[in-house]
Amino acid sequence: MGAEALLRAGEVVLLVDLRRGKRHLITLRLGQAFHSDRGFIPHDTLVGLPEGVVAVTTRGARYLALRPTLAEYVLEMPRGAQIIYPKDLATIALFADIGPGQTVIEAGLGSGALTLVLLRLVGPTGRVVSYETRVEFARRAHRNIEARLGPDFPLTVRAQDVYLGIEEREVDRVVLDLPEPWRLVEAAAVALRAGGLFCAYVPTIPQAQRVHEALSAHPAFALAETFETLLRPWNIAGPSVRPAHRMVAHTGFLTLARRVQPDAGGRPGTAPPDASEDADATDRPDPEVA
Ligand code: SAH
Repeated sequence: MGAEALLRAGEVVLLVDLRRGKRHLITLRLGQAFHSDRGFIPHDTLVGLPEGVVAVTTRGARYLALRPTLAEYVLEMPRGAQIIYPKDLATIALFADIGPGQTVIEAGLGSGALTLVLLRLVGPTGRVVSYETRVEFARRAHRNIEARLGPDFPLTVRAQDVYLGIEEREVDRVVLDLPEPWRLVEAAAVALRAGGLFCAYVPTIPQAQRVHEALSAHPAFALAETFETLLRPWNIAGPSVRPAHRMVAHTGFLTLARRVQPDAGGRPGTAPPDASEDADATDRPDPEVA
């Protein structure tokens, strides 16, 4: 095993209570200790050990020590604003097609959960620009990102109201997590390169409907789609193989669209003019793309 693999002072470690499942993020600091209601673990006892060891508190409670995955990290990191959950982050990653070298515009920064995913995907040759009006959120997000990635990451934070405009041009992706994304459809059409992608995450259907309709009505966008992702955990324990009793039943809806040439013809995703007379016309499995 290489020295790289051993836990070092300064690193973020996830401690999982093996009896109750409760999770804690700690930053290993020599001389400090993790305190639980059943004794404590001096950080020094973890430094120099490989990931996956079980640490035992002074009163015998057992904690599994691992470097957190990105999904585990965003769930446990300090939050100002509500984060986007891992199931939706994973969906955004592929459906908004975030990839190496891209320039991605984001709003707002919030706690930085989505930003961390975007930074991982665009890589060192890409760039993320995040608009955030609340400086205390921006500061917290920056701390969360720095604790995970170290001091160097290609993020520009713009402490300004994104509804007043997106400054960047020829960007690859615009990804929005704020209350009124429909107000940015025109600005995104100007900022995005041809073929670029717009993605908005909203918690309610009136919001999703409004942004979807704004995209469908805009001549520079096509292929608008709205969906949600449900993740249902299963209990697998001997003969008891069944869905878990509880699940996160609702987080939010994603609406996506492609930036196209304004004269691409037709308005894919828009219902035909007589749709109101024919309920089935809006229920066809495939939108007619002109
Ligand atoms: N996606 C983030 C959470 C974003 S919460 C995460 O995963 O952690 C929504 C954020 O949008 C809040 O921080 C809020 O302050 C910010 N916001 C709301 N309206 C805004 C605007 N007009 N311009 C910039 N930021 C805005």
